[in-house]
Amino acid sequence: MSQEKSVCCFCRLPRATFECEVCSEPVCRSCVLRLPEETFAMLPEKPAGLCHDKYCPRCHDEHIETALTTYNEIMERAKNVGYWAKGYRGHVPVLKKARFDISVENGLDRDDVLLRLGFKAAQAGFNGLIQGEVTSAKVRNFGYQKMTWSASALPCMVDDEKLAREEYREAHWRILHHR
Ligand SMILES: [Zn+2]
Ligand SMILES: [Zn+2]
Repeated sequence: MSQEKSVCCFCRLPRATFECEVCSEPVCRSCVLRLPEETFAMLPEKPAGLCHDKYCPRCHDEHIETALTTYNEIMERAKNVGYWAKGYRGHVPVLKKARFDISVENGLDRDDVLLRLGFKAAQAGFNGLIQGEVTSAKVRNFGYQKMTWSASALPCMVDDEKLAREEYREAHWRILHHR
């Protein structure tokens, strides 16, 4: 960043000490917007525009705001995705099933893999997961052992009205309620 470019691209005060990582314009401490690393953590692959750390307000608006609204909306649905483990003997009011199983790997714990699974299902427009399986394995990591978690399930559409009725309330388990 050259000396003459130190006027903030947003507030125009001559004290820009940062550079927007999208448009490369100088931006000052009070205008710069930082993106915590864990934002969009559930996305299997972050689009390039969401991978930066420092944004000017204009680029933040353009790249982050909309994406974050969509992300948060999917996250809310993910927390309400119903989950039924493989071997569940009760009736699940399934309206439609996905054609393929989905899976997640390298999770920190059971909650982590289930929420990520729920996110994938919600992203594809489903509100339930059936035939779910959660597995954990010990792996050696530089001399100490740690657990790594995986999960898979078949996404489906379940009848939410039926689920809301008493007879189903006991039988199912929502990702949100577990967390
Ligand atoms: Zn500024
Ligand atoms: Zn910018």
